[in-house]
Amino acid sequence: MTKPIIPIVPEQLATDPSKGDGMGCHAGEKQMMDAAKSAGKGEVLQRYAQDYPKGPHDQPQSMCPAFGSLRVGLRMRRTATILSGSACCVYGLTFTSHFYGARRSVGYVPFNSETLVTGKLFEDIRDSVHEQADPEKYDAIVIINLCVPTASGVPLQLLPKEINGVRIIGIDVPGFGVPTHAEAKDVLAGAMLQYARNEIMAGPVQAPRTGVQSKPSITLLGEMFPADPAVISSMIEPMGLAVGATVPTREWRELYQALDCKVVAAIHPFYTASIREFEAAGRPVVGSAPVGYEGTAAWLEAIGQVTNTPHEKINAAKHKILPAIKAVLGATPIKGRITLSGYEGSELLVARLLIESGADVRYVGSACPRTEWSNADREWLEAKGVHVQFRASLEQDLAAMAEFKPDLAIGTTPVVQAAKQASIPALYFTNLISARPLMGPAGAGSLAQVINAAIGNQVRFDEMKAFFGEVGADHNAGVWEGVPKDRPEFKAETRRKLEKAIKKRKAEEMI
Ligand code: SF4
Repeated sequence: MTKPIIPIVPEQLATDPSKGDGMGCHAGEKQMMDAAKSAGKGEVLQRYAQDYPKGPHDQPQSMCPAFGSLRVGLRMRRTATILSGSACCVYGLTFTSHFYGARRSVGYVPFNSETLVTGKLFEDIRDSVHEQADPEKYDAIVIINLCVPTASGVPLQLLPKEINGVRIIGIDVPGFGVPTHAEAKDVLAGAMLQYARNEIMAGPVQAPRTGVQSKPSITLLGEMFPADPAVISSMIEPMGLAVGATVPTREWRELYQALDCKVVAAIHPFYTASIREFEAAGRPVVGSAPVGYEGTAAWLEAIGQVTNTPHEKINAAKHKILPAIKAVLGATPIKGRITLSGYEGSELLVARLLIESGADVRYVGSACPRTEWSNADREWLEAKGVHVQFRASLEQDLAAMAEFKPDLAIGTTPVVQAAKQASIPALYFTNLISARPLMGPAGAGSLAQVINAAIGNQVRFDEMKAFFGEVGADHNAGVWEGVPKDRPEFKAETRRKLEKAIKKRKAEEMI
């Protein structure tokens, strides 16, 4: 089941950080790591290795991880976000940001080999931060070191912590140190929480825009559908609790509100650095989320226990919401075998909801690591016979699809592509599943609708397959004036040349 389909072979490329754009996620990870360590970034990389453990594969297979930090910065009011990295990386990151509707400028401090090795890049960054630090416009400026500046040791930690009252947050987010874009969200959220916690300890801070909560509040950890916090708030209302802030926050002052909570709900369980800050502030943390019937019952119970809520109140909360969830789950069943994978960190929650809706889920793959906050969901799923794979590689996701032959594959872009090629209906996890409500009755209903519609498409796939046959496959691919012919002798010749080149490279390496 774990047989690799696409071998990942680390390339041996020249990786001198001073070569500027010549090094990046296409370069060897080890060389990048060594360069970064010898340039003074050992401590931060060591912390990332503990916070975001790797394996079975040790390089990101999804988008550039820095996108996670960038997105968190761009979604905050009165916050400027500046990238320091290779032009090609910045192009890709800004493109993706605007594709996802950033509607905000992304700052960029360019560099070349000379400014990188002479330390001028750091001076340029410092100048641009000073230029931008206008308290009329900003509460905070975030500077993100991408791969090359991190490997070269550009010392963002030496930037002033504050200029004209504007907070300066410098973070390293290299692809060779932070495995997924999900965890990169935590890098920035954790850095901001740490800053805000120090501010709280130093004296009075700004109240939330909506005023201080009169009830004890719960901080939600993880990006979720906008209606979900409101749904959770109404669920816990009989317990005398309310939802406070959601981290990553949309404004600096919400960080204070987030820290000023009774308990933290780690809806997404991979926010290790953020959890460290909450624990340092003495806040207890509860894993899992109120999804489906059993998930909601267990979560309400856990929140009630941690907050010392009397049993009658916990039961009142359960009686208020559970019958409605049960009714929706019964009215909108999902029938079919499903494999599911993604890199958002909410994969286990979605799988729970699918199973409670009646789906036959065989495999759940998450690019995120296993943490103690995902234990409850993992145990629940494994008890139902589901194979749960943390740090899942694309190869494992594809192998699961080949083994379980699902009626629907939910996954990342390459998984969906492979599924469609095999005439299996498929849905993108990020765009179509994680962008929906998951909590309460709304979550159960909305998921069933999209899943059942997709499974119902099998007949269309069969018709398309019957109509197109092998057109466009293998040697038939491309545009031809005549009938395409297979040329096995050309393939053999190309393979022979490649093998010869590999042998030559190996021989050179041994010299
Ligand atoms: S910053 Fe992102 S795109 Fe650029 S080299 Fe690193 S991982 Fe690749």
